Amino acid sequence: MPPVFRFAPSPNGYLHLGHALSALLNADMAKAAGGRMLLRIEDIDPSRCRPEYEAGIYEDLAWLGLTWERPVRRQSEQFDVYRDALTRLDAMGLIYPSFESRAEIVALVAAREAQAPSPRDPDGAPLYPGNAKALAPAERARLIASGAPYAMRLDMAAAMTRAGALTWLENGAGPRGEAGTVIADPAAWGDVILARKDAPGSYHLAVTLDDAAQGVTDVVRGNDLFDATSVHRLLQSLLGLPAPRYHHHRLIVDADGRKLSKSTQATALRERRASGATPSDIRKGLGLD
Ligand code: GLU
Repeated sequence: MPPVFRFAPSPNGYLHLGHALSALLNADMAKAAGGRMLLRIEDIDPSRCRPEYEAGIYEDLAWLGLTWERPVRRQSEQFDVYRDALTRLDAMGLIYPSFESRAEIVALVAAREAQAPSPRDPDGAPLYPGNAKALAPAERARLIASGAPYAMRLDMAAAMTRAGALTWLENGAGPRGEAGTVIADPAAWGDVILARKDAPGSYHLAVTLDDAAQGVTDVVRGNDLFDATSVHRLLQSLLGLPAPRYHHHRLIVDADGRKLSKSTQATALRERRASGATPSDIRKGLGLD
């Protein structure tokens, strides 16, 4: 079976040089390995994704000279798959609804910080401060029946007990130079959200299920997602899915050393194209030739 690679952008802005590096690395590695190259549109967030950005992704990747298999998988068309996985995790007693609003979470974190520094996840966000896991079943049922919106969270402690110790194979260097067998540390993320209030899935759940559904054998993506791999390994284990190999690559940063963002015009591929750059200029600029 040929290896399967994928590039999985979110259509919440135009692609920049960091995306170009990821897409080109995936395509180069797929070619070198005689593998397949897939494109997945990660449009699970209805508030941020727009059709013009999705059209921009196809345009920019084609301009770079990339090809990918059709049909392209779009996460917004896979909600049944995500719901089904949530039902399975629920049956295992590993998820629970959490009803707090964003403002309530902020207030809970502030109250916690008044006592001691708030524990933070690897991205620097405070861990879930709430206590929804401990809600009495009757109160939980009452809130659901009242129509109160809720997110579904993973009971991290229970999930880790069930899954046991986990590792992954890292073929890149990772942000801290970890290569080879990496020990997963999902607890660092706390009780992560697996279903949002406005979508029956979260990034972690969707990416894990889609990689498995598409038979992805090699996940090549930026170092900003290295730590998230711990959560993906945990979900793979709980749901009986195979573990791909991982290769996390360097990030492209701006002149101030900050990670590129989709709002930075100067590094957008379409801006480069408009100012006369060629695909080979882009490759050279990324140090790929
Ligand atoms: N959709 C994610 C992003 O655009 C990438 C997900 C992944 O490669 O696992 O950052």
